[in-house]
Amino acid sequence: MTDVIVVGGGPAGLTAGLYLARAGRSVLVLEESTPGGQINFSPLVENYPGLPRVAGSELGDTLAQQAQDLGAQLEYESVTAVTPLEDGFQVDTDCGSHTCKGLILATGVRHRPLGLPG
Ligand SMILES: Cc1cc2nc3c(=O)[nH]c(=O)nc-3n(C[C@H](O)[C@H](O)[C@H](O)COP(=O)(O)OP(=O)(O)OC[C@H]3O[C@@H](n4cnc5c(N)ncnc54)[C@H](O)[C@@H]3O)c2cc1C
Repeated sequence: MTDVIVVGGGPAGLTAGLYLARAGRSVLVLEESTPGGQINFSPLVENYPGLPRVAGSELGDTLAQQAQDLGAQLEYESVTAVTPLEDGFQVDTDCGSHTCKGLILATGVRHRPLGLPG
């Protein structure tokens, strides 16, 4: 059983992943799309401390690589259900299911389309 599963591989989820890995926990980050989440939509990030100017996609890739280098496992799966167990959680995805003792939801936000044509 994994110590902690993090749902979402955006900046929040990957940051949680790298802190958990550094703390010696086994951690699985589940991302259904692109690591870095919404920051991938930013062509230029200028407010990240220590990185004066970086493309959002590059920052996402760097965050994912850093978390993995420190021991976090990153898998590309979409989480479809979470079920509490006596000693943790069962996390179902489009690829199967996992169990963990702790769960972090870092699923961010999705933009709401206007629903207008064009
Ligand atoms: C166009 C744009 C430009 C921006 N520019 C800047 C900037 O210059 N500087 C700045 O500081 N911030 C910027 N931001 C804001 C920044 O991107 C967000 O604050 C940040 O990405 C939020 O991180 P998060 O991890 O909380 O959520 P998100 O980035 O939303 O990440 C959540 C992740 O969870 C995944 N996920 C969701 N549901 C599931 C599921 N069921 N199973 C598996 N994975 C799932 C998603 O695919 C996503 O990758 C910008 C945002 C946008 C849209």
